[in-house]
Amino acid sequence: MKNIAVIGSGTMGNGIAHVFAQFGYAVALVDISEEALKKALATIEKNLDRQVAKQAITEETKKQALANITTFTQLKAGVETADLVIEAATENSDLKLKIFKELDEAAPANTILATNTSSISITKIASATKRADKVIGMHFMNPVPVMKLVEVIRGYNTSNEVTETIMQLSKMVQKIPVEVNDYPGFVANRILMPMINEAIYALYEGVAGVEEIDNVMKLGMAHPMGPLQLADFIGLDVCLSILTVLYEGFGNPKYAPCPLLVNMVQAGHKGVKSGNGFYTYAPGSKDLVVAERFK
Ligand code: NAD
Repeated sequence: MKNIAVIGSGTMGNGIAHVFAQFGYAVALVDISEEALKKALATIEKNLDRQVAKQAITEETKKQALANITTFTQLKAGVETADLVIEAATENSDLKLKIFKELDEAAPANTILATNTSSISITKIASATKRADKVIGMHFMNPVPVMKLVEVIRGYNTSNEVTETIMQLSKMVQKIPVEVNDYPGFVANRILMPMINEAIYALYEGVAGVEEIDNVMKLGMAHPMGPLQLADFIGLDVCLSILTVLYEGFGNPKYAPCPLLVNMVQAGHKGVKSGNGFYTYAPGSKDLVVAERFK
């Protein structure tokens, strides 16, 4: 594998492009937005600078990594020589089906098509192509250059050979791959989201306050971040949408999103990205201040 195409240059796409470029792969970074591509290159450069400052990489590696990335606004041009495509576009089922249909037509017949989706069925995405054996989930964690895990998700028809190739490739970029099967939420979100939902229920039922709940999990379970702060960081809208996938996918009320979470999302309180969630986030400030309504 030499040529990697990354579709979508947002939070995850720029991190994925960064990692593969750092380890010497030629990366085609594709986005429909010229603006997003510009922003992605600036973010990658800033993050590489940080690695140089920490002496994790040399200035030469940084320069080479940046030189390894080419940007495209046309999907076809970006993927025509790709050995592997990693799709990291917006989390929307119809959009992903459309992109995979296009990828199937534009990429060489042997190209593996991976998706970084957090919650959409790999088997469903694969059904938009004529190469379901070569479609697989590569679920990176945010921030990609820092987090070691890649959840490698086998769709119903993903071949052993493709799975093995992706497991090996993940190790080539110093990640630790874990193989899982394609059921709602895979493993990471199936376990994480019910924990976050339960923390929101504990708040909703008045068992304890925001800081108290987070402190129990930080101090008692050695979690680096409490579940409510983590929910703000992930985005409350994203948490709600993943819980809905679990709830509908299993048809089990234990995954029903807490009404407080639903209300907060409907009110536009989405966590860090909107400046308010369980905590409030003043621009430029790193202080963690409990939102007024939960004091
Ligand atoms: P984002 O909104 O930051 O970026 C999405 C990018 O996709 C945008 O730049 C957008 O312009 C681009 N895009 C939209 N349609 C496109 C198209 N047709 N072709 C090419 N580019 C297109 O989103 P994100 O947070 O980076 O999430 C991307 C994927 O990664 C989603 O599937 C998400 O579920 C998954 N994911 C996100 C996280 C996270 O913490 N943010 C973690 C793991 C997985």
